[in-house]
Amino acid sequence: MAKRDYYEVLDVPKNASAEEIKKAYRKLALKYHPDRNPGDKAAEESFKEATEAYEVLRDDEKRGRYDRFGHAGVDPAAAGGAAGFGGGYGSFDLSDALRAFMRDFGGFGDLFGESADRGSGAPRPGRDLQIKLRLTLEEIAAGAEKKVRVKVLGRCDECGGTGSASGASPRRCDTCGGQGRVRQVQRSLLGQFVNITECPACRGEGSVVVHPCSTCRGEGRVARKESVTVRIPAGVSAGNYIPLRGKGNCGLRGGPRGDLIVVIEEEPHKRFARHGDDVLTEVWVRFDQAVLGSALEVDTLDGRVKMNIPPGTPSGKVFRLRGKGIRHLRGRGSGDQLVQVHVWVPKKLKREERRILDEIKKGGLFEPPGG
Ligand SMILES: [Zn+2]
Ligand SMILES: [Zn+2]
Repeated sequence: MAKRDYYEVLDVPKNASAEEIKKAYRKLALKYHPDRNPGDKAAEESFKEATEAYEVLRDDEKRGRYDRFGHAGVDPAAAGGAAGFGGGYGSFDLSDALRAFMRDFGGFGDLFGESADRGSGAPRPGRDLQIKLRLTLEEIAAGAEKKVRVKVLGRCDECGGTGSASGASPRRCDTCGGQGRVRQVQRSLLGQFVNITECPACRGEGSVVVHPCSTCRGEGRVARKESVTVRIPAGVSAGNYIPLRGKGNCGLRGGPRGDLIVVIEEEPHKRFARHGDDVLTEVWVRFDQAVLGSALEVDTLDGRVKMNIPPGTPSGKVFRLRGKGIRHLRGRGSGDQLVQVHVWVPKKLKREERRILDEIKKGGLFEPPGG
Protein backbone atom coordinates (compact mmCIF):
# COMPACT_ATOMS: atom_id res chain seq x y z
CA MET A 1 0.00 0.00 0.00
CA ALA A 2 1.31 3.47 -0.87
CA LYS A 3 2.31 5.63 2.06
CA ARG A 4 -0.07 8.49 2.76
CA ASP A 5 1.16 12.05 2.66
CA TYR A 6 2.40 13.04 6.13
CA TYR A 7 0.52 16.35 6.15
CA GLU A 8 -2.63 14.50 5.22
CA VAL A 9 -2.02 11.95 7.98
CA LEU A 10 -1.79 14.68 10.61
CA ASP A 11 -4.45 16.74 8.86
CA VAL A 12 -2.40 19.93 8.88
CA PRO A 13 -1.64 22.39 6.04
CA LYS A 14 1.76 22.29 4.31
CA ASN A 15 2.79 25.48 6.08
CA ALA A 16 1.74 24.31 9.54
CA SER A 17 3.88 25.58 12.41
CA ALA A 18 5.79 23.23 14.71
CA GLU A 19 3.20 23.98 17.38
CA GLU A 20 0.29 23.05 15.09
CA ILE A 21 2.02 19.82 14.10
CA LYS A 22 2.62 18.84 17.69
CA LYS A 23 -0.97 19.64 18.61
CA ALA A 24 -2.38 17.70 15.68
CA TYR A 25 -0.20 14.70 16.48
CA ARG A 26 -1.08 14.77 20.18
CA LYS A 27 -4.76 14.69 19.31
CA LEU A 28 -4.38 11.69 17.00
CA ALA A 29 -1.97 9.87 19.33
CA LEU A 30 -4.36 10.17 22.25
CA LYS A 31 -7.22 8.89 20.12
CA TYR A 32 -5.32 5.88 18.77
CA HIS A 33 -2.96 5.12 21.65
CA PRO A 34 -2.82 1.34 22.25
CA ASP A 35 -3.57 1.84 25.96
CA ARG A 36 -6.91 3.25 24.92
CA ASN A 37 -7.58 0.70 22.20
CA PRO A 38 -6.31 -2.61 23.49
CA GLY A 39 -6.22 -5.25 20.80
CA ASP A 40 -7.39 -2.88 18.07
CA LYS A 41 -4.99 -3.45 15.15
CA ALA A 42 -6.43 -0.63 13.08
CA ALA A 43 -5.92 1.84 15.92
CA GLU A 44 -2.37 0.60 16.37
CA GLU A 45 -1.67 1.17 12.67
CA SER A 46 -3.10 4.69 12.89
CA PHE A 47 -0.99 5.36 15.98
CA LYS A 48 2.15 4.22 14.19
CA GLU A 49 1.28 6.13 11.03
CA ALA A 50 0.67 9.36 12.93
CA THR A 51 3.85 8.96 14.94
CA GLU A 52 5.89 8.26 11.83
CA ALA A 53 4.51 11.41 10.20
CA TYR A 54 5.16 13.39 13.36
CA GLU A 55 8.75 12.16 13.62
CA VAL A 56 9.49 13.58 10.20
CA LEU A 57 7.50 16.82 10.35
CA ARG A 58 8.72 17.81 13.84
CA ASP A 59 12.29 17.79 12.62
CA ASP A 60 13.10 20.82 10.42
CA GLU A 61 15.80 19.02 8.51
CA LYS A 62 13.74 15.89 7.77
CA ARG A 63 10.70 18.00 7.02
CA GLY A 64 12.74 20.01 4.50
CA ARG A 65 13.85 16.85 2.76
CA TYR A 66 10.33 15.47 2.81
CA ASP A 67 8.95 18.66 1.28
CA ARG A 68 11.49 18.48 -1.52
CA PHE A 69 11.68 14.76 -2.25
CA GLY A 70 8.61 13.22 -0.62
CA HIS A 71 8.89 9.89 1.17
CA ALA A 72 12.07 9.06 -0.74
CA GLY A 73 13.80 12.00 0.93
CA VAL A 74 13.33 10.59 4.41
CA ASP A 75 13.46 6.90 3.68
CA PRO A 76 16.83 5.69 4.93
CA ALA A 77 16.88 3.03 2.24
CA ALA A 78 16.90 5.81 -0.33
CA ALA A 79 18.85 8.41 1.61
CA GLY A 80 21.75 6.41 2.93
CA GLY A 81 20.32 5.81 6.36
CA ALA A 82 20.18 9.51 7.12
CA ALA A 83 16.66 9.63 8.52
CA GLY A 84 17.38 6.86 10.98
CA PHE A 85 14.60 5.26 12.95
CA GLY A 86 17.00 2.70 14.28
CA GLY A 87 17.08 0.54 11.22
CA GLY A 88 14.92 1.10 8.23
CA TYR A 89 11.66 2.75 7.59
CA GLY A 90 9.73 -0.44 7.33
CA SER A 91 10.83 -1.25 10.84
CA PHE A 92 9.18 1.79 12.38
CA ASP A 93 7.34 -0.41 14.80
CA LEU A 94 5.08 0.08 17.75
CA SER A 95 7.92 0.32 20.24
CA ASP A 96 9.53 3.15 18.23
CA ALA A 97 6.18 4.88 18.13
CA LEU A 98 5.59 4.49 21.86
CA ARG A 99 9.10 5.72 22.59
CA ALA A 100 8.60 8.80 20.43
CA PHE A 101 5.28 9.48 22.10
CA MET A 102 6.72 9.09 25.59
CA ARG A 103 9.68 11.32 24.76
CA ASP A 104 7.45 14.28 23.96
CA PHE A 105 4.38 13.62 26.06
CA GLY A 106 5.52 11.40 28.89
CA GLY A 107 3.75 8.21 29.88
CA PHE A 108 0.18 7.83 28.75
CA GLY A 109 -1.05 8.13 32.32
CA ASP A 110 0.56 11.53 32.73
CA LEU A 111 -1.75 13.00 30.10
CA PHE A 112 -4.81 12.07 32.07
CA GLY A 113 -3.45 13.06 35.43
CA GLU A 114 -3.23 9.48 36.60
CA SER A 115 0.34 9.97 37.70
CA ALA A 116 1.54 12.56 40.12
CA ASP A 117 0.37 16.07 39.66
CA ARG A 118 2.93 18.14 37.76
CA GLY A 119 3.98 21.53 38.99
CA SER A 120 2.50 22.47 42.36
CA GLY A 121 5.59 21.13 44.13
CA ALA A 122 4.47 17.50 44.00
CA PRO A 123 7.35 15.12 43.34
CA ARG A 124 7.68 14.25 39.70
CA PRO A 125 7.35 10.60 38.70
CA GLY A 126 10.37 8.72 37.41
CA ARG A 127 10.80 7.77 33.80
CA ASP A 128 9.17 4.83 32.10
CA LEU A 129 11.61 2.18 31.03
CA GLN A 130 11.40 -0.13 28.09
CA ILE A 131 12.92 -3.56 27.71
CA LYS A 132 12.70 -6.18 25.00
CA LEU A 133 11.78 -9.73 25.88
CA ARG A 134 12.55 -12.50 23.43
CA LEU A 135 10.26 -15.52 23.52
CA THR A 136 10.35 -18.88 21.83
CA LEU A 137 7.35 -20.09 19.89
CA GLU A 138 6.74 -22.73 22.56
CA GLU A 139 6.56 -20.00 25.22
CA ILE A 140 4.23 -17.96 23.05
CA ALA A 141 1.99 -20.96 22.44
CA ALA A 142 1.66 -21.88 26.09
CA GLY A 143 2.05 -18.52 27.76
CA ALA A 144 5.00 -17.96 30.05
CA GLU A 145 6.22 -16.41 33.22
CA LYS A 146 9.67 -14.89 32.91
CA LYS A 147 12.00 -13.33 35.41
CA VAL A 148 14.00 -10.46 34.00
CA ARG A 149 16.75 -8.34 35.52
CA VAL A 150 16.22 -4.66 34.90
CA LYS A 151 18.56 -1.76 35.56
CA VAL A 152 16.46 0.82 37.35
CA LEU A 153 16.79 3.84 39.55
CA GLY A 154 15.30 2.42 42.73
CA ARG A 155 14.48 4.09 46.02
CA CYS A 156 17.54 4.79 48.18
CA ASP A 157 17.17 2.71 51.34
CA GLU A 158 19.69 4.83 53.22
CA CYS A 159 17.52 7.95 53.26
CA GLY A 160 14.19 6.34 52.45
CA GLY A 161 14.05 8.22 49.17
CA THR A 162 14.11 11.67 50.72
CA GLY A 163 17.66 12.44 49.58
CA SER A 164 18.38 13.96 52.98
CA ALA A 165 20.95 12.50 55.38
CA SER A 166 19.46 14.22 58.41
CA GLY A 167 15.88 13.45 57.54
CA ALA A 168 15.11 17.14 57.20
CA SER A 169 12.76 17.95 54.36
CA PRO A 170 14.17 19.82 51.38
CA ARG A 171 14.29 23.59 51.72
CA ARG A 172 13.02 26.03 49.17
CA CYS A 173 15.74 26.95 46.72
CA ASP A 174 17.06 30.46 47.37
CA THR A 175 18.43 30.92 43.89
CA CYS A 176 15.07 30.65 42.12
CA GLY A 177 12.74 31.17 45.06
CA GLY A 178 11.20 27.76 44.48
CA GLN A 179 10.30 28.46 40.86
CA GLY A 180 12.79 26.01 39.38
CA ARG A 181 13.54 28.56 36.66
CA VAL A 182 15.75 31.61 36.56
CA ARG A 183 15.82 34.60 34.26
CA GLN A 184 19.09 35.56 32.78
CA VAL A 185 19.69 38.75 30.93
CA GLN A 186 21.97 38.42 27.95
CA ARG A 187 23.40 41.30 26.07
CA SER A 188 24.30 41.02 22.43
CA LEU A 189 24.92 43.33 19.52
CA LEU A 190 21.23 43.24 18.77
CA GLY A 191 20.19 44.26 22.22
CA GLN A 192 19.17 42.71 25.47
CA PHE A 193 17.47 39.33 25.80
CA VAL A 194 15.79 37.80 28.75
CA ASN A 195 16.44 34.14 28.81
CA ILE A 196 14.53 31.79 31.10
CA THR A 197 16.45 28.65 31.98
CA GLU A 198 16.37 25.83 34.47
CA CYS A 199 17.71 26.89 37.85
CA PRO A 200 21.31 25.65 38.14
CA ALA A 201 21.17 25.43 41.93
CA CYS A 202 18.21 23.06 42.22
CA ARG A 203 18.20 21.74 38.65
CA GLY A 204 14.64 22.87 38.13
CA GLU A 205 13.22 21.29 41.27
CA GLY A 206 12.54 24.43 43.24
CA SER A 207 13.95 22.90 46.40
CA VAL A 208 17.35 21.81 47.69
CA VAL A 209 18.42 19.19 50.17
CA VAL A 210 20.34 20.70 53.07
CA HIS A 211 22.40 17.64 54.05
CA PRO A 212 22.38 15.35 51.04
CA CYS A 213 22.43 11.62 51.67
CA SER A 214 25.88 10.29 50.82
CA THR A 215 24.60 7.09 49.23
CA CYS A 216 22.41 8.76 46.60
CA ARG A 217 24.03 12.21 46.70
CA GLY A 218 20.69 13.74 47.52
CA GLU A 219 18.71 12.19 44.68
CA GLY A 220 16.73 9.79 46.82
CA ARG A 221 17.31 7.02 44.31
CA VAL A 222 20.16 4.77 43.27
CA ALA A 223 20.93 2.65 40.22
CA ARG A 224 20.50 -1.06 40.83
CA LYS A 225 19.28 -4.22 39.22
CA GLU A 226 15.88 -5.53 40.11
CA SER A 227 14.22 -8.82 39.31
CA VAL A 228 10.83 -8.45 37.75
CA THR A 229 8.40 -11.24 36.98
CA VAL A 230 6.56 -10.81 33.71
CA ARG A 231 3.48 -12.89 32.99
CA ILE A 232 2.99 -13.32 29.29
CA PRO A 233 -0.40 -14.56 28.10
CA ALA A 234 -0.44 -17.21 25.39
CA GLY A 235 -0.76 -15.92 21.85
CA VAL A 236 1.25 -12.70 21.96
CA SER A 237 3.09 -11.48 18.86
CA ALA A 238 6.22 -9.47 18.22
CA GLY A 239 5.52 -5.81 18.91
CA ASN A 240 2.90 -6.52 21.58
CA TYR A 241 3.87 -4.91 24.84
CA ILE A 242 3.05 -5.45 28.46
CA PRO A 243 3.09 -2.40 30.73
CA LEU A 244 4.12 -3.09 34.31
CA ARG A 245 2.87 -0.20 36.38
CA GLY A 246 5.32 1.21 38.91
CA LYS A 247 8.28 -0.92 37.82
CA GLY A 248 10.16 1.88 36.05
CA ASN A 249 12.50 4.46 37.56
CA CYS A 250 11.81 6.18 40.86
CA GLY A 251 11.29 9.90 40.60
CA LEU A 252 13.69 12.29 42.31
CA ARG A 253 13.34 12.40 46.09
CA GLY A 254 10.29 10.27 46.61
CA GLY A 255 8.70 10.85 43.21
CA PRO A 256 6.52 7.88 42.23
CA ARG A 257 7.89 5.19 39.98
CA GLY A 258 7.36 5.17 36.25
CA ASP A 259 6.29 2.08 34.35
CA LEU A 260 8.25 -0.71 32.78
CA ILE A 261 7.18 -1.44 29.24
CA VAL A 262 8.00 -4.96 28.13
CA VAL A 263 8.05 -5.27 24.35
CA ILE A 264 7.70 -8.80 22.99
CA GLU A 265 10.08 -10.21 20.42
CA GLU A 266 9.81 -13.60 18.75
CA GLU A 267 12.68 -15.96 18.38
CA PRO A 268 12.57 -17.61 14.95
CA HIS A 269 11.91 -21.35 15.29
CA LYS A 270 14.00 -23.94 13.49
CA ARG A 271 11.08 -26.15 12.50
CA PHE A 272 7.86 -24.21 13.00
CA ALA A 273 6.84 -21.20 10.97
CA ARG A 274 4.14 -18.99 12.44
CA HIS A 275 1.24 -17.66 10.35
CA GLY A 276 -0.99 -15.71 12.68
CA ASP A 277 -2.10 -18.29 15.22
CA ASP A 278 -1.44 -21.23 12.88
CA VAL A 279 1.94 -22.93 12.72
CA LEU A 280 3.36 -24.68 9.70
CA THR A 281 5.70 -27.68 9.80
CA GLU A 282 7.04 -30.09 7.24
CA VAL A 283 7.49 -33.85 7.48
CA TRP A 284 9.26 -36.22 5.12
CA VAL A 285 7.87 -39.67 4.31
CA ARG A 286 9.06 -42.58 2.23
CA PHE A 287 7.58 -43.19 -1.20
CA ASP A 288 5.78 -46.35 -0.04
CA GLN A 289 4.21 -44.48 2.90
CA ALA A 290 2.78 -41.89 0.51
CA VAL A 291 1.46 -44.58 -1.80
CA LEU A 292 0.09 -47.02 0.77
CA GLY A 293 -0.85 -44.56 3.53
CA SER A 294 0.82 -44.53 6.92
CA ALA A 295 0.52 -43.65 10.59
CA LEU A 296 3.02 -40.90 11.37
CA GLU A 297 4.21 -39.24 14.55
CA VAL A 298 4.68 -35.52 14.20
CA ASP A 299 6.04 -32.88 16.54
CA THR A 300 3.69 -30.19 17.76
CA LEU A 301 4.46 -27.26 20.02
CA ASP A 302 3.45 -29.44 22.96
CA GLY A 303 4.76 -32.88 22.22
CA ARG A 304 4.35 -35.54 19.57
CA VAL A 305 0.98 -36.64 18.19
CA LYS A 306 -0.17 -39.35 15.79
CA MET A 307 -1.29 -38.37 12.33
CA ASN A 308 -2.53 -40.69 9.59
CA ILE A 309 -1.94 -40.01 5.95
CA PRO A 310 -4.29 -41.79 3.56
CA PRO A 311 -3.17 -44.02 0.69
CA GLY A 312 -2.29 -41.99 -2.40
CA THR A 313 -1.04 -38.90 -0.58
CA PRO A 314 0.67 -36.61 -3.10
CA SER A 315 3.93 -34.93 -2.15
CA GLY A 316 3.32 -31.40 -0.86
CA LYS A 317 -0.15 -32.13 0.53
CA VAL A 318 -1.01 -30.15 3.67
CA PHE A 319 -2.85 -31.72 6.59
CA ARG A 320 -4.48 -29.75 9.34
CA LEU A 321 -4.17 -30.65 13.02
CA ARG A 322 -6.99 -28.71 14.57
CA GLY A 323 -6.23 -26.73 17.70
CA LYS A 324 -2.53 -27.59 17.69
CA GLY A 325 -1.45 -24.05 16.86
CA ILE A 326 -1.13 -21.04 19.11
CA ARG A 327 -3.84 -20.09 21.56
CA HIS A 328 -5.77 -16.99 20.49
CA LEU A 329 -4.70 -13.99 22.55
CA ARG A 330 -8.26 -12.76 22.63
CA GLY A 331 -11.20 -15.10 22.59
CA ARG A 332 -11.32 -18.85 22.98
CA GLY A 333 -9.55 -21.60 21.15
CA SER A 334 -6.30 -22.01 19.30
CA GLY A 335 -4.98 -21.91 15.78
CA ASP A 336 -4.15 -25.08 13.86
CA GLN A 337 -0.96 -26.83 12.95
CA LEU A 338 -0.52 -27.28 9.22
CA VAL A 339 1.64 -30.23 8.33
CA GLN A 340 3.03 -30.38 4.84
CA VAL A 341 4.01 -33.89 3.75
CA HIS A 342 6.91 -34.32 1.35
CA VAL A 343 7.99 -37.52 -0.30
CA TRP A 344 11.67 -38.14 0.31
CA VAL A 345 13.64 -38.80 -2.84
CA PRO A 346 16.96 -40.53 -2.14
CA LYS A 347 20.06 -39.39 -3.97
CA LYS A 348 22.02 -42.64 -3.72
CA LEU A 349 20.69 -46.15 -4.32
CA LYS A 350 22.00 -49.60 -3.54
CA ARG A 351 22.03 -52.16 -6.31
CA GLU A 352 18.97 -53.99 -4.91
CA GLU A 353 16.99 -50.78 -4.60
CA ARG A 354 17.79 -49.85 -8.15
CA ARG A 355 16.62 -53.31 -9.29
CA ILE A 356 13.27 -52.90 -7.52
CA LEU A 357 12.74 -49.48 -9.08
CA ASP A 358 13.55 -50.90 -12.50
CA GLU A 359 10.84 -53.53 -11.92
CA ILE A 360 8.36 -50.82 -10.99
CA LYS A 361 9.29 -48.86 -14.08
CA LYS A 362 8.70 -51.84 -16.33
CA GLY A 363 5.29 -52.44 -14.76
CA GLY A 364 4.11 -49.12 -16.19
CA LEU A 365 1.66 -48.56 -13.32
CA PHE A 366 3.41 -45.46 -12.04
CA GLU A 367 3.11 -43.35 -15.16
CA PRO A 368 1.65 -39.91 -14.40
CA PRO A 369 -1.60 -39.21 -16.30
CA GLY A 370 -1.39 -37.36 -19.60
CA GLY A 371 2.27 -38.32 -20.04
ZN1 LIG B 1 16.40 26.74 42.22
ZN1 LIG C 1 19.85 8.43 49.86
